[in-house]
Amino acid sequence: MRLILLGPPGAGKGTQATRLTQKHSIPQLSTGDMLRAAVKAGTPIGLKAKAVMDAGGLVSDEIVVGIIADRIQEADCKPGFILDGFPRTVAQAEALDKILAQMNMQLDAIVELKVDESALLARIENRAKETIAAGGTVRADDNPESFKIRLDAYRQQTAPVSAYYASKGTLRSVDGMAPIDEVSKALDKILG
Ligand code: AMP
Repeated sequence: MRLILLGPPGAGKGTQATRLTQKHSIPQLSTGDMLRAAVKAGTPIGLKAKAVMDAGGLVSDEIVVGIIADRIQEADCKPGFILDGFPRTVAQAEALDKILAQMNMQLDAIVELKVDESALLARIENRAKETIAAGGTVRADDNPESFKIRLDAYRQQTAPVSAYYASKGTLRSVDGMAPIDEVSKALDKILG
């Protein structure tokens, strides 16, 4: 199964992707996680991406498309994958279409988690608190200033991605404001 999860920062994409990974034994491909790993490892991509990510902006299409193009060719992606945080611009969605066509692959579902924007900042703040409680390190962009920029980037550059898939008739949506288990059930229903 090849799936894209769309939705603003804090919508619950990562939480649901982790659950689906376990259920379907397919990897979660989070470009955010991959970029954070690159920053931590100090790779050339990480060095380029760090400042933009910390501020809440979007890393260049070229970088993230390159990362995904390489990643989905790896053996563990053969049975499928869940894209979490990609595509985030229409250019990325178009590039993904080309990559998949070249690999003779098709997407099975594109699902948007619909959430009330006013709840998102509280969710991000909660995520930061939970991370601290678990002894982890809070993401450099999980703060109100960066969050505002991330939400703006979502509105301006990522919301059109939903419209892109909607115009192709392939977009489904679930209520991301529902409790986590309910969202999972709604996703299961769509995925069959
Ligand atoms: P996320 O973990 O999905 O919230 O992503 C964290 C940050 O990584 C974003 O705010 C962007 O700076 C960067 N990022 C992740 N995925 C993408 C993408 N598909 N395109 C551009 N930037 C991305």
